[in-house]
Amino acid sequence: GPLIVANNMKGVKNYEVVKVSDQLLTGEVIELKGDLASIQVYEETSGISPGEPVYRTGSELSVELGPGLIGSIYDGIQRPLEDISKKTGNFIKRGIETSPLLRDKKWLFKPILKKGNKVKGGDIIGEVQETPLIVHKIMIPFKISEATIEEINEGSFTIDETVAELKLADDKAFNIKMSQIWPIREPRPVNKKLIPSEPLITGQRVIDTFFPITKGGAGCVPGPFGSGKTVVQHQISKWADADIIIFVGCGERGNEITDVLKEFPELEDPKTKRPLMERTILIANTSNMPVAAREASIYTGITIAEYFRDMGYNVALMADSTSRWAEALREISGRMEEMPGEEGYPAYLGSRTASFYERAGAVECKSSEKRKGSLTVIGTVSPPGGDLSEPVTQNTLRVSKIFWCLDRKLANARHFPAIDWLSSYSLYLENLLPYFKKNIGEDFAEIREEAMKILNQETELEEIIRLVGYEGLSDNDKLIMNTAKSIREDFLQQNAFDKIDTYTSLPDQYKRLKSIVAFNRKAQSLIGKGQTIEQILSLAEK
Ligand code: ADP
Repeated sequence: GPLIVANNMKGVKNYEVVKVSDQLLTGEVIELKGDLASIQVYEETSGISPGEPVYRTGSELSVELGPGLIGSIYDGIQRPLEDISKKTGNFIKRGIETSPLLRDKKWLFKPILKKGNKVKGGDIIGEVQETPLIVHKIMIPFKISEATIEEINEGSFTIDETVAELKLADDKAFNIKMSQIWPIREPRPVNKKLIPSEPLITGQRVIDTFFPITKGGAGCVPGPFGSGKTVVQHQISKWADADIIIFVGCGERGNEITDVLKEFPELEDPKTKRPLMERTILIANTSNMPVAAREASIYTGITIAEYFRDMGYNVALMADSTSRWAEALREISGRMEEMPGEEGYPAYLGSRTASFYERAGAVECKSSEKRKGSLTVIGTVSPPGGDLSEPVTQNTLRVSKIFWCLDRKLANARHFPAIDWLSSYSLYLENLLPYFKKNIGEDFAEIREEAMKILNQETELEEIIRLVGYEGLSDNDKLIMNTAKSIREDFLQQNAFDKIDTYTSLPDQYKRLKSIVAFNRKAQSLIGKGQTIEQILSLAEK
C-alpha cells in the first residue's frame, strides 16, 4: 500500500520529503515514533521490500511557483502530466523526475520598481505577461523583511536567472528569481483577512440570486451521483467573474477527469473569447492513481491558488470531490492503524477539512502596498447513497458557509441545476445585500424574499392539494401555485448547455424575478377586487 515504515530516521522532520528505494519514489514523512518514520508514498509501492534504502531530502513537500503555471495540467504533487506522458507514454512509470515549470523558456520581465527602492516580502517588483489573459506579478519572497533594490533590469529571463539584486538589512546580497518554492501544507501569510462583501457572480440564477457566494467565500455542493455536481463546478469555472480558476479533480474516475481534460482546453472564456486555459490550472488525480498523491492534491491546488491571490487576483478553486480526498485520508489512517473515528474516517477529518476551507478568504495581501485579493473555495461532496448525515458532509457543513444541496428528485425530474431551494442556504447573504441594493436594485432583498416565500407556500399547499385537489384551493392559493411554478420553471431552472440560458447577468436575473413577483402582486390585487384566477391567467396567455 501507500505506507512504508523506515528505521534509523532520527533527525528527520515531520512532512519532510524522502526518496524511497533506489527507484527514488517520492514520499513524505507523516509520523515519527522514536527513530521509526511512517512515510506515505506518492507512487506505486509494489515490489518494494524490507531492507531497501530511504533517502532524505531535507525539504518539505512543496510547489514551485512562477511563470508557466497557468495552463498547466499537473498530478497531485505538481508533476506536469504532459511531460510525464512524453517521458513514459500513457502509463506513468515510477520515480520520474520532472520540473513543474519550464526551465529554459524565456519570459519578458518588466520592472515596476527601481534601483534604490525599499522593499519587503510580498512586494511586487515586476511583471511578466504569462498568457494573453494573465499578468504574472513577480513578488519578493515572504522571508525577506527589509531590503533595498540594488539592480533591476528589463529583459528576457528564464525562471532560474536573476531579475533583481537586493541588499538585505544586514548588507548581504540576495538574488531575486522569478520562481519560488512554498510548502503546500503551510498557508501563505496575509496582512489581514477582510470580511468578504462582493459577490462572485456566476451567471447561475439560483446561485447568484438565491444562494450567493462571495469572492473569498467557502461553499460546498453535496449531491448523489448524477445530480449535477460536476456541471455546477464547470459552469462556475466557465462563467464566474474570477480572474483565475484552479480545478482539482480529486479521485474521480479516469473517464470523468478525461472529460474535464478534454473539455477545458476547448472551452472559450466567454468574456474575452480567448481559450479558458489561459486563466486555468488543472490538477488531476484519478481514482487509479496512488492514493497518497490524492491527499496532497488539494493542498497543491490551494497553495498555487494562494500564490495568485497574493498578486491581487480573485481566484476560485474547485475541488471535485472532497469525499474522494477524505477516503484517501481514511485509507492512510487505516494503514497506520490509527484509532478510527466515525465510519472509519480518522478522528482528525474535521480539523483537516476545516484547515482546507479556512484557506479561503478575501484578504489584504502581505505587502507594503494595500493590495486586495481573494480565494474562493468550492468543494463537491459525494455522500454515498446521498445520505447527508455521513461524516464528510457533516464536517464540511461545519466550515463552509454555503450549502448548495443537489437533490436527486429534482435531477430525476430534469430540473437543473438541481439545487434544492428549500434546504440550501448561503450565510453570506447578509454581507451581500448592501452590494445588491446599491448595484442591482433597491428592492432586491424584498423581491428575493417574496419569491422564497411563494416557493415555501407552494410546498405547504402541495400537502393540501393531496387532500382536496387543486380545484379545492382558493383563488389566492391557486395563484401561489401558478407563480411558484413560474419561479421554478422560468427562473430557477437553467440549461447549462443552451447558448443563451447558460449565463444570466445579475441585473437580468433581478429583472426576470421582479417581473414574476410583480405579476403575482398585480394578480393578487385583482383577485381582491373580485376577478377570478381563470380570468387573470387567460389574460396572461394573450
Ligand atoms: P455528478 O457530477 O453529480 O455525478 P453531473 O454534473 O455529471 O453529475 O451531471 C449529470 C447530468 O445531469 C449531466 O450530464 C447533464 O445531462 C445533467 N445536468 C446537470 N446540470 C445541468 C444543467 N444545469 N443543465 C442541463 N443539464 C444538466
